[in-house]
Amino acid sequence: MELTPVEGLPEIREGDDLAALVDERVDLRPGDVLCVASTVVSKAEGRTRDLSAFPAGDRARDIAARIEAITGDEKDPRFAQAVIEESEELLTEAPFLLAVCRFGHVTVNAGIDRSNVPGGDLLLLPEDPSASAARLHERLDVPVVVTDTSGRPFRHGQRGVAVGWAGMPASRDWRGEHDRDGRELGVTVQSVVDELAGAANLVAGEGDGGTPAVVVRGFAFGDHEGSDNLFRAEEDDIVREALRDWTFEG
Ligand code: GDP
Ligand code: MN
Ligand code: MN
Repeated sequence: MELTPVEGLPEIREGDDLAALVDERVDLRPGDVLCVASTVVSKAEGRTRDLSAFPAGDRARDIAARIEAITGDEKDPRFAQAVIEESEELLTEAPFLLAVCRFGHVTVNAGIDRSNVPGGDLLLLPEDPSASAARLHERLDVPVVVTDTSGRPFRHGQRGVAVGWAGMPASRDWRGEHDRDGRELGVTVQSVVDELAGAANLVAGEGDGGTPAVVVRGFAFGDHEGSDNLFRAEEDDIVREALRDWTFEG
């Protein structure tokens, strides 16, 4: 499998035709997968915002004050307001905002970015990243994965995850297949879009590289069942359940 960044993409602005910009620069072939950083999808979709668009309500002011008291870092209540407005639910409020985005992804600050954002204070995630991926897939005719850099529990550091995808299943199901001892696999469902996103994010980088789109060539989904269940439903998420009853007492 080979991953190649799409070179020479400009700074993306609202209304830009991202599919055309990519198509002009690479020769996509059947079997390729295109991974695109959510940052540029958001920019093209006009998801840049000024902090002033989020006048803070009582809850946001309370959250910002609590975070400040715990961490000692100044927190703009308008940022907390933006996270509240972009979320279906907050699983934690302090010392950080862990949000369930409306489209199902769970991430700190609802994935709102403040890096690589000229001309605005904030960049929101795409409203529906799988719908964004579907529009790109329609134009480019290869599977598309929209990625974001995201932290994870239990480990330091961030990595790329899929926030949206189209043209391929999210996961490949190994259940019913066999290991090398002939034992039947009972539980393994491999979230391939996350694994592709992780690899692509490694190539895209996090700084000023200017390479938000990465072509994956030579990935084979293989002869497996697939599914689109990536985000856990509320009722089968015990961690989410536990966090609802948790408050920081450090
Ligand atoms: P995120 O992981 O989706 O939050 O995106 P990042 O901010 O980490 O950026 C991923 C990659 O895209 C990096 O190589 C950035 O330099 C690049 N990038 C971000 N915005 C733009 C843009 O508007 N144009 C170009 N060409 N590259 C960008
Ligand atoms: Mn991001
Ligand atoms: Mn990133």
